[in-house]
Amino acid sequence: MDMKIEVIENVFKYNRINAESNRELFGKHHVLALNILSSPGAGKTSLIIETIKHLGKSVNIGVIEGDVSSTYDAQKIKKYINQVVQINTGGTCHLNATMVGRALEKLDTGNMDLIIIENVGNLICPVGFDLGEDYRIVLSSVNEGDDKPVKYPPVFIKCNPVLLNKMDLIGISDFDLGFFIKEVRKINPSAELLKFSCKTGEGVEKWIEWVLKQVKNKKGK
Ligand code: MG
Ligand code: ZN
Repeated sequence: MDMKIEVIENVFKYNRINAESNRELFGKHHVLALNILSSPGAGKTSLIIETIKHLGKSVNIGVIEGDVSSTYDAQKIKKYINQVVQINTGGTCHLNATMVGRALEKLDTGNMDLIIIENVGNLICPVGFDLGEDYRIVLSSVNEGDDKPVKYPPVFIKCNPVLLNKMDLIGISDFDLGFFIKEVRKINPSAELLKFSCKTGEGVEKWIEWVLKQVKNKKGK
């Protein structure tokens, strides 16, 4: 076999093994794990902060922050909760299951109800790396334009729910909501689609309801 192909296959095999052990850990403690994918600037960190503001009193939340460098986002979240771990990938443009496994050792996973993983801002390769999560979620935003499902279909096919942030900008941009929804439906007909604005708070309650429902489902298992 071509050496290069073998190396790539081993990377994915190794990831699958580590994703399984993360999944076992989440299952053992009945903690819901969400892996959030988006382009840079779509509002992943803002969404996490909104989630903590709404649910932080009743749900024990831990956050794993993935970034190429800096602790900027982790610092923002630390203002609201203690259980935050920053992963600096040192240039790698996605999180893998090994990095998340190491981060989980630093969290009080046994006492968590919900772990939110903020992936590195990138719509391409994070799709190829299972982290052991319960849900892989894509967060799109109005300012990015309505063509993301057309240009980056794999992320929309493999994620559920599909989220659309920055709805407050809808009237002042060329974003065609009908087109966006139609394109998402074409490639992922069963995905839940939630629209909101983290800035104004409009629609965020639908997301909060969704998260709470999944947390309860996981607890019941
Ligand atoms: Mg962020
Ligand atoms: Zn990558």
